[in-house]
Amino acid sequence: MEIYLDANATSPVLPAAAAAAEQAMRELYANPSSSHAAGLKAKALLCGVRELAARLLGVGEGSLMFTSGATEGIQTAVLSALCAIRARRARGEATGTLLLYGATEHKAVSESLAHWNALLGTGLELRALPVDRNGLHRLDILRELAPQAAMLCTMAANNETGVISDIAAIEAVLTQTGSGALWMVDSVQALGKLHIDLAATRIDYAPFSGHKLYAPKGVGMLYVRAGSPYTALMAGGGQEGGLRAGTENMAGIAALGAVLGALADGRTFRTRAELEGFRERIAQALRMALPGIVFNPPFAHALPTTLNFSVPGFSSKELLDLFDASGVRVSAGSACSAAKAAPSYVLEAMDLPQWRCQAAVRMSFGPLADSAFIDAACARIARCGEALRSTCLVPSGCAPAGAEGVIQFNVDGACTWVVLDAASKSCVIIDPQAALGERIGAYLRCQSFRVQALVATSASHERAAFEAFVAGELAGGASADPLGWPADSERVVLGDGSSAACVALGQQVLARLTHADGSASYLLGARSGAALPADAVRFAFTGAAALPGGLDAALPLPQLRAAVQRVASLIERDTVLCGARDDDGSFCTTAGTEGQGNSLLAELLALQPRLARAVPLPFDGSLLLEASGLDAFFAAHPNALLIDVREPFEFAADQIPAWRGHVPHNVPLSRLAGQLGHWLHGERVPLVFFCRTGNRSGKAAACLHRLGYPNVRNVVGGLALGDHGPAALALAA
Ligand code: PLP
Repeated sequence: MEIYLDANATSPVLPAAAAAAEQAMRELYANPSSSHAAGLKAKALLCGVRELAARLLGVGEGSLMFTSGATEGIQTAVLSALCAIRARRARGEATGTLLLYGATEHKAVSESLAHWNALLGTGLELRALPVDRNGLHRLDILRELAPQAAMLCTMAANNETGVISDIAAIEAVLTQTGSGALWMVDSVQALGKLHIDLAATRIDYAPFSGHKLYAPKGVGMLYVRAGSPYTALMAGGGQEGGLRAGTENMAGIAALGAVLGALADGRTFRTRAELEGFRERIAQALRMALPGIVFNPPFAHALPTTLNFSVPGFSSKELLDLFDASGVRVSAGSACSAAKAAPSYVLEAMDLPQWRCQAAVRMSFGPLADSAFIDAACARIARCGEALRSTCLVPSGCAPAGAEGVIQFNVDGACTWVVLDAASKSCVIIDPQAALGERIGAYLRCQSFRVQALVATSASHERAAFEAFVAGELAGGASADPLGWPADSERVVLGDGSSAACVALGQQVLARLTHADGSASYLLGARSGAALPADAVRFAFTGAAALPGGLDAALPLPQLRAAVQRVASLIERDTVLCGARDDDGSFCTTAGTEGQGNSLLAELLALQPRLARAVPLPFDGSLLLEASGLDAFFAAHPNALLIDVREPFEFAADQIPAWRGHVPHNVPLSRLAGQLGHWLHGERVPLVFFCRTGNRSGKAAACLHRLGYPNVRNVVGGLALGDHGPAALALAA
């Protein structure tokens, strides 16, 4: 079962609303403007819903029109206000010069103000009204600015945080300062959750949206106070008493009527006290699952149906992926792109620390929620906590086995590499970044690993700041050199007969190459006796020199040439080159791949003919595989491996069962480079990647394809597409 906790984005449709919409489509399909009997019946429905809404919202003498949603209502209100202000100014009357809007308003408000101000040539100044740390409007600043405001926009409740504005206090400031501002209150998130009595206030415009409260998308309402200026956004056939032309969305209005009916009956939706109890249960489950969690706005100022939080050490993308894997649908507190979540402007306006603005998650439910639903949500949240503990991402006291290999961490394009040897319980960290210290330190403690060396490829790394997080795990760190290399290291003979300092990691060694500019590269491979021959070097951590597709132009060229040439003389064609940066999600590269390009790296590598790929490897067909093609693919390639590239905590939360005998292996993107060290040297069996949406698995497939791996596929659409995508994997189990 899916646990939908994203009600502030949109809600499911109330069954009674769906039934009312269907009935309107089947039986009341006539045009409500027609004067025949069928039209009159449709009109009766329209009028009935309007009357009900007017009563519930306390519209009084004001008007209430049906719209397509809140965005349209906002446009209409802004257009109306600006046309009136423009006309007053044309008559030489004084108006304020500011278009004042709350700093946490929905973008539909600030963007509409900017749009119509430019289009109408009103030339007013847009000014954001600051909020305090609780998200409440700064009334002291409003008091100063209100006399200069031509229009004021303040939402009733915020969609990201649930913060409830103090509308009565804002009104008092407007009155006390004698402000003539026209006032819009975006009431989208208030409907069904807060008491609304519009005509008892001086609010001029109040837009509403049906789909935030169990009606379908495409229907909304706009309240306009009696006597407030009005300009129609849409002209035409005179519908809605001439206020809004266009034949009405009767199915949507009927559905909205059913929701408003439920609101009026007082039995369908939970009371505020019940909703507050639900919020506390969810908050408690979150506190248990996510130690260190911080709730962004204090509950006292917020709708009980919205929880906005951040968790130290986790990005909102990671938490979203975790929740999604557990079947819990939530959203980032902010707009989120695949690579990097933009910080929430709402939380920034509240002046919260940057990490909280960047990593926020919003959980929201509707007033229809019941106790069983909240129980189910809490159980899933607990499952998320278990998934994190079982993968050592939050302290658990457990020590799961299986930590082995090379892990890549990426912070804004900068890479930290961790090399783990399970047998000796030891590891090396390369190019440590302070931002990862807490997480990597906790992971190593949970796994009882010793840190043999904490090294950097160049002096610019945050080694010293990181060290504090692994102080207890660090072996002999005190005598390290400036790049972190331990003083009393052993030596190993490299492929060209030279000798290098090395650190042992079980059967493997990490050898250090120092370059003329003071930077270093590190070679990892299994030692034979006292030697690390070129064909045993599986990984080279080369700092700037290994940028896939080119070199860092900032480095002095002759020294760089020398460094690359030296590395090239000590590795083999499929040695995985791990760089200090990965800005475009390439993960890693190989000398064989780079040797085929035109970059300086290619030129230098060409000096080592043994590194060139003799014949470019054939790519057999498209990388994309439809879920419907899985059967045929596995029939043709019975030895193919099915690879789930989601992070281990997602894999733990939602393990996809075996598909036709093919048990999915978990190789998260952070382990892809590490796994390549094996895949490129093994039998090169066909690989089928999948993830939640097909995005991450697409990157994995593209990486292997670029490195010349002969047969890789990405399952289109990922698990998110349910029955239409590779959830076929789960269903066929
Ligand atoms: N205002 C707020 C506070 C909202 O949450 C939304 C929807 O996200 C809107 C306006 C826009 O509403 P609609 O989708 O009906 O255009």
